[in-house]
Amino acid sequence: MVVWRQEVRDVEFKDVFTDLRKKAELSQNEVAEKVFVTRQAVSRWERGETVPATETLLALSRLFGVSVNTLLGSPRTLVCQSCGMPLSDDFLAQEADGSFNETYCKWCWVDGAFAQECTMEEMVEHCVPLMPLGQAEPEACRTYMRGLLPTLERWKQK
Ligand SMILES: [Zn+2]
Repeated sequence: MVVWRQEVRDVEFKDVFTDLRKKAELSQNEVAEKVFVTRQAVSRWERGETVPATETLLALSRLFGVSVNTLLGSPRTLVCQSCGMPLSDDFLAQEADGSFNETYCKWCWVDGAFAQECTMEEMVEHCVPLMPLGQAEPEACRTYMRGLLPTLERWKQK
């Protein structure tokens, strides 16, 4: 049963990075200056010889407006740990400094806190009408959500 939509991709950092750099119309030099590395480092990334360190990935994430997960070729299927929605960069929450929060969607996490304090059952009711199948088969979606939510960080019994 397909409840939330999901994409599967198979790409690497070098492909994602080169593509973003060209779309942004930046030279290797310009990117290097913006994230404080050498042009040789950028050139090694594009040849697939190295992958940037974490701080540099975060800087690139802010520069291009995409998540670190996307930069790395989406090795993880991100799922909002509050409502269970698969997360593409368009749906990711952002912190005040513009960095991506890769744990929650932008509807669940706003300005550094949960957008709504609610019980798990209230979250189920909140999500069902928003799901592609929610209108046609609300009971099926409720059952799915009641199984999914307890596995997510927000609802796990600590
Ligand atoms: Zn969410």
